[in-house]
Amino acid sequence: MKLVLKYGGTSISNTKNIQLICKHVSELSKKHQIAIVCSATSGTTDDLIEISESIKKENKSKAEQLASKIINRHNQLAKQTIKKSDIQKKLLVKLNEDFTELLALIDGLVLLGEVTSRSMDYLISFGERLSIKLIAAAINDLSKKSISLTGKEVGIVTDSNFGESKPLIDTTRLRVSKCIDNLFSKKVIPVIGGFAGADQHGHTTTFGRGGSDYSATIIGSCIKADEIWLMSDVDGLMTADPKIVKNAKLLKEVSYVEAIEMALFGAKQIHPRTFEPLLTKKIPMKIRSSLMTNNEGTLVSASPSASVKNTVKCVSNIRNNGLIDIQNGQIGTPGTASKIFATLAKAEINVMMISQNPSESSITIVVKNTDLDKAVSILEMDLLGKIIKKLEVTTGVSIIALIGSGMRGTIGVASKVFTAIEKNKVNVSMITQGSSELNLALVVKNSDTNTAVRAIHDAFTLDKIN
Ligand code: ASP
Ligand code: MG
Repeated sequence: MKLVLKYGGTSISNTKNIQLICKHVSELSKKHQIAIVCSATSGTTDDLIEISESIKKENKSKAEQLASKIINRHNQLAKQTIKKSDIQKKLLVKLNEDFTELLALIDGLVLLGEVTSRSMDYLISFGERLSIKLIAAAINDLSKKSISLTGKEVGIVTDSNFGESKPLIDTTRLRVSKCIDNLFSKKVIPVIGGFAGADQHGHTTTFGRGGSDYSATIIGSCIKADEIWLMSDVDGLMTADPKIVKNAKLLKEVSYVEAIEMALFGAKQIHPRTFEPLLTKKIPMKIRSSLMTNNEGTLVSASPSASVKNTVKCVSNIRNNGLIDIQNGQIGTPGTASKIFATLAKAEINVMMISQNPSESSITIVVKNTDLDKAVSILEMDLLGKIIKKLEVTTGVSIIALIGSGMRGTIGVASKVFTAIEKNKVNVSMITQGSSELNLALVVKNSDTNTAVRAIHDAFTLDKIN
């Protein structure tokens, strides 16, 4: 099989884990053609982002201090992990070239006193540039051929939308397949940097936070992989957060559409565009543990087998959101909703839930707590007294979402949910369900989250799923 294995940061951030995953890769490579995609090591992308913030605040010493932290982290990992001295030496030289470039970049940005979106992408792509060299060397250390390639080097070409780029898929497909097939024919294991590519001018671009998942599926679709495995510190997708529900179960199989809904929640947050490249080619994906390699994890496919077509697959939650009830000052006037959402979009506020009753007297939205102040103030400033009569704000609310394509057309789902919730005396302040009936979401107080999740998990006997 042709396999793409993507490793998240925690899987490659200490010597023990690196050695374990490289051994696994080496075993698999005896039977399969393997391409690896890596995230940055834990904390590195965050540190790089903090460097950019320090530069904007003209705090050069803080930026340099953070760069030293990154340098030490990688030097130490290289020295502890790589046993063969010639491989270790070569790795340290290569890492050092990147460190020199990183420090020069910081100097340049400090001099300019600004970080544009283009230079930001260049800066935050360093995490993956470093991690891939380390992992390729660790595979070499096991006497296997491997080389590291950045997203740009492997041939990922994107538009110039820095920070949130999209691949130009035809050019990308040609370049990536040529590059990787060539390496496969020489029995070399490519270790590719996730998260980034380059635009047509060769400027580094990134896909947004968590973008290595997306890199893995882009690459998988380019080389027509048989499977893509997202390897991380979770066992797979679960019926609920096991910290809340003791008997939460691992889901053996879900569909792409269900996984897209689940991507936002839970321990393994997946980049929202990850599934796009898989849909047309119907490449199966597995979400697996990078260390417990005997566990099969969760299979995500176009059409899961009938035995796992349960009504509800999971009950997830996101705490710490704010609810804004926007009371309409001009009921029945077309364009009201459009003005409200355009105003929020202008302030770059992401709206997570929306509902409007047919009387059109109010529109209720949910945003992250961290966006709440900004959302309320921009709505007040721009629209209060015009199309908005009044704003009512509730802080500290939790979204509870039931996900499962079997809900479609099934009678009694809502009744079961609300009966379970009512028995536990939890008040629901908002409900949404799209007509796809894939996701039923409710809003409760933060403090009611655990009770509501457990009650729903029990009502649908999700501990007996699979
Ligand atoms: N290193 C990037 C991030 O932390 C991309 C990724 O991990 O997927 O967001
Ligand atoms: Mg990640």
